Amino acid sequence: MPARLSSFIEVKRDSDFPLENLPFGVFRPRNDAARVGVAIGDHVVDLAVLEESGHFGPNQRIFSTDSLNAFLALGRPAWRRTRATLQQLLAADNPALRDNAALRERTFYRQSEVEMQLPARIGSYTDFYSSFHHAHNVGTMIRGPENALMPNWKWLPVAYHGRASSIVVSGTDVRRPRGQIKPPDAATPVFSPSRALDFELEAAFLVGPGNSLGEPIRVNRAEEHIFGLVLMNDWSARDVQTWEYQPLGPFLAKNFCTTISPWVVTLDALEPFRRPLAPQDPQPLEYLRRDEDFTYDIRLEAKLQTAAMPSPHTITRTNFQNLYWSISQQLAHHTVGGCNLQPGDLLASGTISGASEESRGCMLELTWRGANPLQLQGGETRKWLEDGDTLAITGWCEGEGYRIGFGEASGRVIGA
Ligand code: CA
Repeated sequence: MPARLSSFIEVKRDSDFPLENLPFGVFRPRNDAARVGVAIGDHVVDLAVLEESGHFGPNQRIFSTDSLNAFLALGRPAWRRTRATLQQLLAADNPALRDNAALRERTFYRQSEVEMQLPARIGSYTDFYSSFHHAHNVGTMIRGPENALMPNWKWLPVAYHGRASSIVVSGTDVRRPRGQIKPPDAATPVFSPSRALDFELEAAFLVGPGNSLGEPIRVNRAEEHIFGLVLMNDWSARDVQTWEYQPLGPFLAKNFCTTISPWVVTLDALEPFRRPLAPQDPQPLEYLRRDEDFTYDIRLEAKLQTAAMPSPHTITRTNFQNLYWSISQQLAHHTVGGCNLQPGDLLASGTISGASEESRGCMLELTWRGANPLQLQGGETRKWLEDGDTLAITGWCEGEGYRIGFGEASGRVIGA
């Protein structure tokens, strides 16, 4: 076990953001323009200031901007150099920044004093369907247990192209969508606010350097193209989805809002929590096969707080390892036909459900389509999300004496 890193910035034992993490994001100080920062403890480090003072080389100018895209395009060697520089600068025994009062004054903000923004200009967003238990549960509801999985599911990472423009940062209210709904006993559809609003607990990765049109990314090279992960809530209107989804898949049921956490946790920070991907049967086709394919041990939770509740109630506990398909396979599959990915594209996992009832990643599964309502503290029940409900997803890797955390992806439902 390597020694814990120690910073001159205080980091509490249960903080999501120790010196081993250093997730990247975009923040806006009061009365100033947005810029790139990293989180440490309760603080944000202003990378634009450190860049201006020459800490990342004499000519680099990529952090005084409102997105990570330019940094994402630089690729993994540059990401690693930046991370190493920051770990040195913030180390407890390094006086360079610690004892430079003027620079220190300009470099650090309290997280409570700044506004977080989306970390990147997300050009394209793709949502996979990579959790076996989620696909199996949903398939069981629709087709019965015998035909729960479609014949393609274990051969390819199923996905659809989502909507990037309605991705919002954690803390943004979510307006209940209106749409066409056809009640089972009605002959024709009605136009109405959704009566079956759901969340989906997901994780998503941001693409770094992309690929040229027509040139797939090989499964073994995936890490060169993946910057890091965020938490995601892919809000879903189940009643709209039921009526519209055949034959081309979800449309308005999914495109009204998607919430992500503001801090991007890098693959380098996740490295100590890399785990072997579970064996796949049948063995995938060659282009999806890599030696020592991997996943990460990331604990994930969703908490629900209604307007009447004094504190949130944890409604599910799951893990990133519940995904059948790896991020390498998702990336390789997405590009194998020649599709070009670009810096800032977002590829999401799909709802992450585990084997147990307590580890299901959406209301659809937790309540079995409303048949078993959730019992909440204070006596309230929920089949679906109601106006005033706040849903927060959290995630972290548990190290020995520290955690690599993601912060949260939270949103409150407001009326249509
Ligand atoms: Ca989804």
